[in-house]
Amino acid sequence: MNKKIIILISIIMTFLIGIIIVFLPYIQIKDEEITIDVNSEYHDSGYTAKSLVKDYHDKVKIKGQVDTSQIGTYEVKYQLPFLFFTLTKTKTINVSDQEKPIITLNGEEKVSVCPGKTYEEEGYTVTDNYDKDLDDKVERIVKENQIIYKVKDQSGNTTTITRDIIYKDTDNPQIKLKGYNPMTIYKGSKYNEPGYTATDGCDGDLTSKVKVNNNLNTNTTGTYEVTYSVSDTSGNTTSVKRTIKVINRPVNGQGNGVIYLTFDDGPSSSITPQILDILKEEGIKATFFVTGKSSSLDYLLVREKNEGHTIALHTNTHDYSYVYSSTKNYFNDLYAIQNHVKNATGITSNIIRFPGGSSNTVSRQYSKGIMTYLTSEVLNKGFIYYDWNVDSDDAGSAKTSTQVYNNVINGLSHNKTNIVLMHDYENNYKTLNALRDIIAYGKNNGYTFSKITSSTPPVRHGVAN
Ligand code: ZN
Repeated sequence: MNKKIIILISIIMTFLIGIIIVFLPYIQIKDEEITIDVNSEYHDSGYTAKSLVKDYHDKVKIKGQVDTSQIGTYEVKYQLPFLFFTLTKTKTINVSDQEKPIITLNGEEKVSVCPGKTYEEEGYTVTDNYDKDLDDKVERIVKENQIIYKVKDQSGNTTTITRDIIYKDTDNPQIKLKGYNPMTIYKGSKYNEPGYTATDGCDGDLTSKVKVNNNLNTNTTGTYEVTYSVSDTSGNTTSVKRTIKVINRPVNGQGNGVIYLTFDDGPSSSITPQILDILKEEGIKATFFVTGKSSSLDYLLVREKNEGHTIALHTNTHDYSYVYSSTKNYFNDLYAIQNHVKNATGITSNIIRFPGGSSNTVSRQYSKGIMTYLTSEVLNKGFIYYDWNVDSDDAGSAKTSTQVYNNVINGLSHNKTNIVLMHDYENNYKTLNALRDIIAYGKNNGYTFSKITSSTPPVRHGVAN
């Protein structure tokens, strides 16, 4: 080959290479690999692209997406076409999760558990910046006095928390007394324990462990205490007291001529309002032994209360075949009317009258001897019962208001407590019509009128069943 040509080509080549070197761009980026947190924002940190003599910045195309909401490795390419090829620079972005999950315990971090019992897990929830549904991934390690909860997210971030378990019974047992407190009994009568229950959060039913002590002397009037105490197996002790008042038994027939008008079997819509009107006009307080046949008449109970009368209890149904078929039924029925009156008026009445009186014999056909039992058991339960010693017989043989009037005034005496039996059942007009005359007779003959209260001396029949 011609030597000159070779030299010429060499010169041209050198020249071209020189030009390329002068114009060849070079791309520079700040960090070739970075790590960012998931859900953070990704910002391109910029680049330069230039040759010795020229800036190519605006010719660079950036390719590639970074999804910061997804863990992974992403690439962003900076590309610049030059002559017949493309210059490329690659940036690697690692989107990663470095946050620990959070375990939240239901219940306390320190819990007391009854000795010998196991802790019943109250549960927990796990939240995490990235992973969902980690609740089921919790590892629960039960140690002697501790439960360890451990959870790991898919990136290996681990959280461990603990719940301390203290095996101790810190609560006192509870004693609940049945029956009345305070309770009143008559001198010389027997104290019948109405009963009690004792429970403990750890030991359960402790009723059989209750110790009962008293300083009772029912032969002497006074105020006494029955003490009930119980300890649980951890030594927590509870003690409650019942006060017993021993009072003198009132003597039947004792009295000073006071008349207690009593009306049984009401209220009724036809009779009770008019009786209340008369009593109001005459300025007299009376006693209503009510039943609970209909709550639509509760407004009359409220009126009886508001007008100052005594609301007493006469059983809810007044159904002999029910109330006297068992003591359970009797007390169910008695408490039903007691609650009814309480709901209607707010009054808890403990003054009662047995349907048919305590001397009734009709109960014999339903339960032999029930009156003997009930007449003492009602006292034990804190009730006071009243019979009567003046009978209008308006639920019996008296058919006219004159007969009702005569029966009443013939029974009155200045030497006794006069408890007058009458009825305000539906349509009992003969009693309604006799009432003004009875009151007039009483007033004109030096009697006073009063309502029964728990301090009124009881008038009681002899028990016949
Ligand atoms: Zn009755």
